Amino acid sequence: MDPTRPLYARPLFRYCPRCAREAGDGDDGRRFVCPHCDFRYYHNVAAAVAAVVVHDGALLITHRAHDPAAGTLDLPGGFLDPGEAPEHALARELTEELGWSALPAPLLFHHAAPNYYEYAGVRYATCDLFYRLEPATRPPLAPADDVAHAEWRTLATLEPAEFGMASAREVVARLRAACGT
Ligand SMILES: [Zn+2]
Repeated sequence: MDPTRPLYARPLFRYCPRCAREAGDGDDGRRFVCPHCDFRYYHNVAAAVAAVVVHDGALLITHRAHDPAAGTLDLPGGFLDPGEAPEHALARELTEELGWSALPAPLLFHHAAPNYYEYAGVRYATCDLFYRLEPATRPPLAPADDVAHAEWRTLATLEPAEFGMASAREVVARLRAACGT
């Protein structure tokens, strides 16, 4: 993604959510300003977390059960709840999606990347925080929630194009480059 050209969420509100009058071009995709009552709302970037779990040359991947990008590959993770620390959010997501009652390894911050998440006609701009885990053994997988299936895949067999989310594609490309496949 070109960092010199910020992309905002799409204009979302045609009518003011407070005074209900038509707002014209009051929503530029970054913020909404009502020309009538001065109500202001920012389409702020939402934070999300994802796990890069690697073991013996394999990456733990999930299959997305729901849209957006249902059926494509993904990394376990999800959105932060308000007031929630990223590490807590990721531990919660791993419990919900894989049945892990405890983290199988320490969370090591990997990197952060911008992403877009289309849901029900709304494009959310996100900041995805990636954490790496290197468990000594492969924990059992009990896929649930918005994960249809989970499995270990050898990095050399994974193609970034199999992943529905741009930020996950970038992670897989980086991992493959790092291991020379
Ligand atoms: Zn208004």
